[in-house]
Amino acid sequence: MDKRYKAILAVFVILLLISGILYLAFRTQPGPDMSQNTPTPEASPTDIPEPSQEPVETPTETPIETPETTPEVTPEPQDERPGQLIRTDYEDFLPNESGEIPIIMFHRFVEEYDGSDKEYTTTFSEFEAILETLYNQGFRLISMRDFIECNIDVPAGTMPMVFTFDDGTPGQFNLIEEDGILKVNPKSAVGIMMAFNEKHPDFGLKGIFYVNMDIGDNTFKGAGTLEDRFRFLLDNGLELGTHTWGHVNYKTQVKTAEQVIESLGKNQEAAYSVIPDLEFYSLALPYGSIPGSDELKALLREGTYKDISYEHKSIMAVGSNPSKPTISPDYNPGYVPRIRMQGMEPVIQDLTWWLPKMTPERMFVSDGDPNTIVVPESRKDRVDESKLNGKTLIQY
Ligand SMILES: [Zn+2]
Repeated sequence: MDKRYKAILAVFVILLLISGILYLAFRTQPGPDMSQNTPTPEASPTDIPEPSQEPVETPTETPIETPETTPEVTPEPQDERPGQLIRTDYEDFLPNESGEIPIIMFHRFVEEYDGSDKEYTTTFSEFEAILETLYNQGFRLISMRDFIECNIDVPAGTMPMVFTFDDGTPGQFNLIEEDGILKVNPKSAVGIMMAFNEKHPDFGLKGIFYVNMDIGDNTFKGAGTLEDRFRFLLDNGLELGTHTWGHVNYKTQVKTAEQVIESLGKNQEAAYSVIPDLEFYSLALPYGSIPGSDELKALLREGTYKDISYEHKSIMAVGSNPSKPTISPDYNPGYVPRIRMQGMEPVIQDLTWWLPKMTPERMFVSDGDPNTIVVPESRKDRVDESKLNGKTLIQY
């Protein structure tokens, strides 16, 4: 009898232990699940206090994980683009992420045309007008970095476009000092773009400025130091690229490997002396010029000068048509075409000439999702799958 009683007691204790373990297991599981079920950034603030309500038994993973992951969802408010919209009803709006992307080239900006440099000068009022036109036609700005990586983050149904600025002229950008504070000059392309983005935040404040470090303080000449100017651009999500030391003509001036390497390495070295981690990843060729031999051309892409290595992931030409996207089998990073902004007098293949031809049928039309490349079935051969850079290819 005693033995049977002990046995029953033992079974009872074991059952009690098992049910206790099961209870704890089921009780703690919903915790992590709920914190994983926080898809929207808006939901995150209410989730942060939750870990403290968790039972004492599970202090290990959840409380640390939640606060760590939630702030990372919204690290860069400047990258948030209102109106961002992913659509999957492809037949209704016909996205085509194998279409062309226009890269626009700007040089000089002035208040009023002064009679010089007809082809490469833009007045501020013309610039304001072209922003409006481009916006209304459905173009949205992306960075050079995102162009290179085909990381196209514009609202569904809109067309990405890249702005590039050569020579570091003050009309493109300069700082002014007001009450001891440095501000962007509203009479500069960057000032105008910032004002435009307040009206139309979904247009995007993006662009790359190709600079010649040999002109020193004359780059974006105005208030502040060169470092102030560069930091202002970078802090606002704009980019800096190399335009060579000395604005060299690779076709006529440069004959040796040493000259190519110096023109690029010296510019990079000087950039590091202003901002230690300012690495140029894109080159705009002065005059669109390229050296004669393949050996010298390869040195435009990468090389080492003294102990400074450089690598340019995109090399920009001058003229004359929209670019293939980087996922295209025809894309050549060594000579990427650009479209020049119209100057005082129209020329063939300038932006005004191209505008009516840059229709959604021809251009890159986004599905709104930077992680997918969506193309019509008929254009699947226009995507080189080895260049997808981790993106998912969708055909419809
Ligand atoms: Zn130039």
